[in-house]
Amino acid sequence: MRKIILNYGYFCMSLICLLANSIHVVQKNETLGGIAQRYGISVSTIQAYNGIANPNVLYVGKKLKIPSGKVKEVSYTVRKGESLGLIAKRFGVSAGDLALINQINRPDLIRVGQKITIPLSGSRRSNPPKLLDSSTLSKLNSIRPTPGKWQRIIIHHSATPIDDAVNMHKVHLARGMKNGLAYHFVVSNGSRKARDGEIYLSNRWKGQLDGGHVKKQAWNRTSIGICLIGNFELRPPTSKQLSALEGLCEYLMKGCKLQANDVTTHTIFHPKHTVCPGKYFSLTGLRRRLVD
Ligand SMILES: [Zn+2]
Repeated sequence: MRKIILNYGYFCMSLICLLANSIHVVQKNETLGGIAQRYGISVSTIQAYNGIANPNVLYVGKKLKIPSGKVKEVSYTVRKGESLGLIAKRFGVSAGDLALINQINRPDLIRVGQKITIPLSGSRRSNPPKLLDSSTLSKLNSIRPTPGKWQRIIIHHSATPIDDAVNMHKVHLARGMKNGLAYHFVVSNGSRKARDGEIYLSNRWKGQLDGGHVKKQAWNRTSIGICLIGNFELRPPTSKQLSALEGLCEYLMKGCKLQANDVTTHTIFHPKHTVCPGKYFSLTGLRRRLVD
């Protein structure tokens, strides 16, 4: 219970960041439904903004934050392979807000066909957000992929909650890999020096060298390796990691003439050998977004 209360606090704060608020002081005989109607927003939106778990409990004099600007809501049906995080990202809202508004206690347990209410702020951009920042783009643009070399993209997790590419490079060198870091790219979760969602280009990508991330050399010769920092057997990737990964895959697919189905994971590519990148990583969700 304590945890839920703390979570409401957090969700509420993240919504406040989304839009500016005005304040409504609750008067005698007012209900949350009536107040919601007056401002043209839904009860669930007021609940989310104010961390109210039970809409029937309201006291006179309580100050309610009311989002300014239009808050539109859409109803969305969960499709196969989708996580709350992916849906949230697609609509430019936080997964925490969605969990609160829809009273989802276990975000990892949403089911196919479930209807989810999604609040959209009036200021939401109609264009899809740019997934790669300009400095990452210019680094990527400075390297020309060897034509015909790359046949697939294989996604891994580091299986460590805290790590960074420079440290991994040292570890892989110490393991006797002469080119160090086994992957072509590392996407940080912000746990060390790199930003959450920051993409690191390794020497293997810069030199268009074979990877060292899968068992057979023949596979390494043709497979781009992307490692996301984190242990996705324990928790999902961050939404910034997923955006960066989507942007990176889109970019590489274009440059290497690959399809969404050429994007795979370590465990799908080499089953029985590993669970990498973990049960909380949704390849289906990623592929769907790459196709859209
Ligand atoms: Zn792996």
